[in-house]
This record gives sequence, structure tokens and C-alpha cells, in this order.
Amino acid sequence: MKCLLCEQYALTHICKECQKLHLLPSRYKRKIQGKVKVYSFYRYKDIEPLLFTKHTDLGYYIYSILASVSFAIFAKELEIDGDVAVIAVDDRVKNGYSHTSILASSMQKKALRYRVAALRDYSNTVYSGKNFQYRLLHPREFVLKEFKERKVILVDDILTTGLTLTAAINSLKEQNKEVLFCLTLADAQGK
Ligand SMILES: [Zn+2]
Repeated sequence: MKCLLCEQYALTHICKECQKLHLLPSRYKRKIQGKVKVYSFYRYKDIEPLLFTKHTDLGYYIYSILASVSFAIFAKELEIDGDVAVIAVDDRVKNGYSHTSILASSMQKKALRYRVAALRDYSNTVYSGKNFQYRLLHPREFVLKEFKERKVILVDDILTTGLTLTAAINSLKEQNKEVLFCLTLADAQGK
């Protein structure tokens, strides 16, 4: 196959050279609810064409590559105390895979336990392309499944207004969970 970025022959959809050149993760930080930290590995605009693959077959491979160079490395280097649940925002399968599940499941570490399908949104609201007011008027309706860890790392793919993560944090708090921080692939602030 050919690398999507440089069009040289490669064994993966994005060759190792291009991964080093274009996909080196940063750590952008935002706070929501005044205190919960959200770390993002990329700026939305820097990887926008890759994020657009989300709803296609190609998206599975692209998200796997992005996860392997950002979330997976982050998890390896992370120092944590005790067992922590990794929860992906609404990791239901659409078009054959779940993009948030790919991100969360790449975080392989003994103390981290990815709790599949623990946080589902039943609002059936699509936020993509919608403005802040629309999002405020159509809140997420998260339902949390039981799991034993009290501490949680919350994972989502794109951070926009922060309303989705805020709703997710609130439903976790209601169940006495402590969100250590949130991780998103890309921050779309001011995109
Ligand atoms: Zn390349």
C-alpha cells in the first residue's frame, strides 16, 4: 500500500517516517468545570483530514495509528497509584468499530482497566457541526454501567465545547467516581 501522507510504499496507512514527522503528539491542556484537566495530543486543525476518516473503513486504521503514537505511549509513561478505570465516552460500535474504543483500548498498563461500554449516551443527539446553543439545548443523557474502580480516566476523541465531557463527568460523580483527568485525541478550540 501507499502511505496516505507521502505516497511512498509502506506497510501501514501512514509510514513510520510520516508518523515521526507529522504525528508527534503534544500535550494541550484545558480545564473544564474549573478543575478537571483535559489533555489533548493534537490540535484539531493539524490532523483534520485524518479525523475525517472517522466514519469510513479507513478510519479504523487511522485511529489505530493515532492511538499507538499518542494514547499508548502516554499510558506507558503514566504513573498512577492503585487501579484506575479507563472509560471511553459512548464507545458504541458504528460502521464496524468504535473510534473511542480504539483510543481507550490502546492504553495497556497493568493498573489500567478499560471498562468497555461503561458510559453510553442515550440522547441520540449528533453534536458534529452543531453550535454551542444547540448543544446546550440538547444535553447528553449518559447512563453509567457499574464497575469496581473508583478512579477514572475519561477518554474521548475530539474536544470542542467540553459539554460532552462535562455531562460525562457529572454522571460519573453521581456514582461516586473520581475523574483523575480526561484525554482527548484532538482539541478543536478555535479551529
Ligand atoms: Zn509517509
